[in-house]
Amino acid sequence: MTKKKPHILFLFSDTGGGHRAAADAITEALALEFDDALTTEMVDFLKDYAPPPYNQLPRFYPEMVKLPELWGVGYKISDGRPQARLVTSTLWPYVRNAARRLVREHPADLLVSVHPVGNSFFLKALGKNRPPFITVVTDMVTTHALWYDQRADLIIVPTRIAFERAVEYHMAPEKIFIAGQPISERHSRPELDKVALREKFGWPSDKFTILLVGGGDGMGPLAETARAIDESGLDVNQVIVTGRNARLKDYLETLSWENPTFLYGFTTDMPEFMRAANAIVTKAGPGTIAEALVAGLPVILYAKLPGQEDGNVTFVESAGVGVWAPDPLKVVRTLTRWICRADEREQVVENCRSAARPQSSRIIARLIASRLGLIDHDSVLEGIGQA
Ligand code: UDP
Repeated sequence: MTKKKPHILFLFSDTGGGHRAAADAITEALALEFDDALTTEMVDFLKDYAPPPYNQLPRFYPEMVKLPELWGVGYKISDGRPQARLVTSTLWPYVRNAARRLVREHPADLLVSVHPVGNSFFLKALGKNRPPFITVVTDMVTTHALWYDQRADLIIVPTRIAFERAVEYHMAPEKIFIAGQPISERHSRPELDKVALREKFGWPSDKFTILLVGGGDGMGPLAETARAIDESGLDVNQVIVTGRNARLKDYLETLSWENPTFLYGFTTDMPEFMRAANAIVTKAGPGTIAEALVAGLPVILYAKLPGQEDGNVTFVESAGVGVWAPDPLKVVRTLTRWICRADEREQVVENCRSAARPQSSRIIARLIASRLGLIDHDSVLEGIGQA
């Protein structure tokens, strides 16, 4: 009789594009490392299971974060262990049935959560005799207390600071591993060089190329920033990715541009776009930052979500991989420096390469496999930072 393959359930939601991208990247790494020795599935638990109005969160997330001050206040007052407990116990009566239905309808040998909301509910719904539950934290530095539930079997974090924060929230240090932000293998395997890639996409191949992106949902003042670059007199290509923000793309299409400007909605070509570019102007999303590091792409952060993305700004500046520029003028000034002072830009590229963690998803895949008994746990520890 053939033995049933272990089945892994990924819990994510499309609040932004980063959680799905992380689950996709780990799924890809599991397939690369272990072929078809296991099976996987992904569930958007907010959209498909949460009771109203919580099931509308993925739809309204881009709208909510248009009020950054309010978002920041909400983030701050809900962050902290007692607050997280209060939120969880208050909401439990409303979400209990949905959480139980989800775990009943998606039986798995191991669960991986890549989202802060829901961890405690799933652990409660699974009860005592449950399969292993792993949380992969996809915020870099300022990680919210909701990520950390002591009942989780393993917490995988992207940075040392996130590790320390997990300990602060009473997670047992031996359960925490630092593996880096999970990103797709496609980011580390460029098939063409910059010039060939630009030719492939129909962009002038000899110009300094700026990639502008506002996360999966095209958030922040992307239009104002692109206009300021275009009007600055810099001789550049602009590649603007609006993600799922169709209204922004429609608006940008009505404008006329002095420089070659290429507009895209949600693209699956991000790894190649990053390789083809010379600099990225982006919202401070952790996924995009980690991917840019692997591509050796200097980063200009034009916006952030207060609270959860504050630490990403500190991370970028202290690693010398980019600049916080919340004002379009500062974006233009930084680009001008990097274009005029090649040595300075080269140093930033170097810093990106040193800070990059291209193996993150593979390490996470191996940690998962070791919990399933597919490989020896000790062999995974090589290359992993753990205090
Ligand atoms: N992304 C993509 N195509 C797009 C826009 C974004 O694949 O058109 C990906 C991007 O490469 C990254 C993720 O979406 O992996 C965005 O995650 P991040 O953490 O940067 O920001 P979020 O959208 O979660 O706020």
